Amino acid sequence: MNPMKIIGLNQAGIIKDERYLDHITGDGHPESYKRLETIYGMLNDQDMRGHFNEIVPRLAVEEEILLNHSPEYLKQVAATEGKGFFALSADTHVSENSYTAALLAAGGIFDAIDMINSGKITRVFSLQRPPGHHAEWGRAMGFCIFNNVALGAHYARKALGMKRVLIVDWDVHHGNGTQHSFEADPSILFFSIHQFPHFPGTGLYTEVGKRKGEGFTINIPLGKGYADAEYAFIFEKILKPVALEFGPDLILVSAGFDIHKSDPLGGMNVTTNGFAVLTRSIMNMADTCCGGKVVFTLEGGYNLKVLRNSVKATLKELAEQTLSNPEEAAHYAVQKKVQYVLKRCWHVHQRFWASLNHNL
Ligand SMILES: [Zn+2]
Repeated sequence: MNPMKIIGLNQAGIIKDERYLDHITGDGHPESYKRLETIYGMLNDQDMRGHFNEIVPRLAVEEEILLNHSPEYLKQVAATEGKGFFALSADTHVSENSYTAALLAAGGIFDAIDMINSGKITRVFSLQRPPGHHAEWGRAMGFCIFNNVALGAHYARKALGMKRVLIVDWDVHHGNGTQHSFEADPSILFFSIHQFPHFPGTGLYTEVGKRKGEGFTINIPLGKGYADAEYAFIFEKILKPVALEFGPDLILVSAGFDIHKSDPLGGMNVTTNGFAVLTRSIMNMADTCCGGKVVFTLEGGYNLKVLRNSVKATLKELAEQTLSNPEEAAHYAVQKKVQYVLKRCWHVHQRFWASLNHNL
């Protein structure tokens, strides 16, 4: 039974469930239950309460997890249910309720996509954990158990028959797991903008996909210190033309808040307001391509106060409480920084995308 009541067709939805807090990772681990506790607390602010359709997620079933993970790995994670602390990888820790939380994280994405596909709502932010974009076919990695965004893309394609899905990953870390899931698949365009060199070490310009999927992986590796205007510029000048040329039926966003200038794990200079700008840029693309259909999923972001305020800025934009102007923001980009990025990307991708085929 889904308790959601529709506030309005154009309102944003959120996936929210206290059971996500039961995924305990251990003292001092940055991917703590406190992240969602803080975000859920913010939802009670006067300017947030009652503004969002709340969707309680379902549990993903095993066959759905197998869309993106090996049976052996699923078995390994399932075996941790009800047991004590265990390390699936050096930095991915689980406890007795983590398997359930991971199934709910995937189920939340499926529910979000179902709601959008039914036409009841156009924008949803899945406020879930564990995050997902580092999780590989056969193993956990980087705080991630199952790859939520990759599972969502598979689900949209295979269960709902959508033809093309765009995944935008703005987390400070490269979405290695997501890239590997779709590098030979031309129906999923994966765009990742991330700090480099940095964990996990992948995400070079020259990683463009393989075989039939060549050109459908776009990596923008950046040095430290890129800020709102440079991100807006790259979204407007690279992501937007490619998104419009690709023509997705749905946009999924791996929203990592570790690009904020005060995040302890990243070296970027994005501000709280920057997230509203990037959100609007993606909303505009979705409006043009696919009737505004977009699902955001929570990835990183480890400064609790910053996470709270940045998610709030994102939600306010999604709910049309604010109206940012990404084109204007892009004007303030430091040209020395962005022109190099533009030329590197054009050089690698002009043979795949007419919209990036500029004279160099
Ligand atoms: Zn991250």
